[in-house]
Amino acid sequence: MAYQITPQLRDKINHFCRFPQTGVSLRQMVMFGQNPSQGTLLRATQFLADELPIRIAHRIKELENLPHNLGEMPSIIKVKNWYAQSFEDLINFPKAELPSSIRDKFTSGSIIQKLPDNVPHPANNPGRSGMLKPSIPIGRRYYTKVDDIEWPPEVHYYNEKFTKLIEDIKKRHNPVVSTVAQGILEYNRHKTKTVIETDIQAFLDRFYMSRIGIRILIGQHVALNKLPSRPDYVGIICTKTNIAQAVQEAADNAKFICEEHYGLFRAPEIQLHCSNDLLFTYVPTHLSHMLFELLKNSLRAVVEKFGEADEYPPIKVIVAEGREDITIKISDEGGGIPRSNIPLVWTYMYTTAPAQDLDPEFNQTDFRAPMAGLGYGLPISRLYARYFGGDLKLISMEGYGTDVYLHLNRISNSDEPLQ
Ligand code: ADP
Ligand code: MG
Repeated sequence: MAYQITPQLRDKINHFCRFPQTGVSLRQMVMFGQNPSQGTLLRATQFLADELPIRIAHRIKELENLPHNLGEMPSIIKVKNWYAQSFEDLINFPKAELPSSIRDKFTSGSIIQKLPDNVPHPANNPGRSGMLKPSIPIGRRYYTKVDDIEWPPEVHYYNEKFTKLIEDIKKRHNPVVSTVAQGILEYNRHKTKTVIETDIQAFLDRFYMSRIGIRILIGQHVALNKLPSRPDYVGIICTKTNIAQAVQEAADNAKFICEEHYGLFRAPEIQLHCSNDLLFTYVPTHLSHMLFELLKNSLRAVVEKFGEADEYPPIKVIVAEGREDITIKISDEGGGIPRSNIPLVWTYMYTTAPAQDLDPEFNQTDFRAPMAGLGYGLPISRLYARYFGGDLKLISMEGYGTDVYLHLNRISNSDEPLQ
């Protein structure tokens, strides 16, 4: 039988919906995650045990209140039920498994630790005596970083169990992007024009952005719990992300896919202008994803414009290091985009390539994506860029080529974008 939201669960969803989501910046994650003790991890568990159900409850509500009749499409209902199941798993997670002494001292149960809005900066809290250190802010709530004392095995076990739970949730939600896309197709089937409406586009931006946030929180937590961490990494964040190396790897991957698609040597050269020792703090998987998508677009444009040429004009990647931003410009001579089509390239499922079948596994790994044809490359890359305070811009000279500017925020303490 299909999954049903029970009245009791409905009450819980309504309850959690009343709380605002709490943003976490890249910098906060790095601060919090350095050399975490079991106690710190317990704090993180506690934060997520509050925060994830809040975020998920908001998504369920949104999926139930979609414009037009999009919310009635079978694939959208399927996705909503995954969210409801994950919500249920989270709120049923047994807090009782902790010894009561620890439970009372370190876990709040839920949500009561939210700071009132007038509290200034939690980092200024002097902290209590003994083993408690000054608090580290996570969003507007704050959790105390705890010294590495002897933690009873139950705490370790508890952290482990929670990690397993959210790992399973993350896995359950792997096919969300393609299933939502399927839902849009089901919806469009009843219509004559297939350009995505503004309100649906806005929903998808919000929804996928939220998904990125949830997956980062889970990914970070899982990585922190799986010690030992890699050098220069705090969870999934690399404090010394090497841009030149990231571009080179993405270029190799994109060229590989391009030659696989168009034939051997049917790919222009990709020239890189970047200092080899430019390092910054970022999530490397995000950076790879964006670079890969942008380079594939440029490769495709050039190959399609020049056909079976002996030589292609190269694609140039120029990296500029500013105080605020690192900007990566990708310039191609692939003929550009007609100006009237520029707004369309940011809409989901807009593509000038032959449409690709939706692979339910797509988006699960970074390098499974096809050469082109899903129409997700640009809009999703822009969400990734904006997620940590950056942006993605595109300027085209029709008849000549396209420049894409990927701005990455260096300071990385911009607030997480939450609606
Ligand atoms: P897809 O690559 O699957 O078509 P994208 O979102 O990556 O989806 O791109 C959408 C469309 O934007 C492409 O189909 C293409 O028409 C246009 N486009 C993107 N980048 C470029 C570029 N560098 N040069 C010319 N057209 C581009
Ligand atoms: Mg693309």
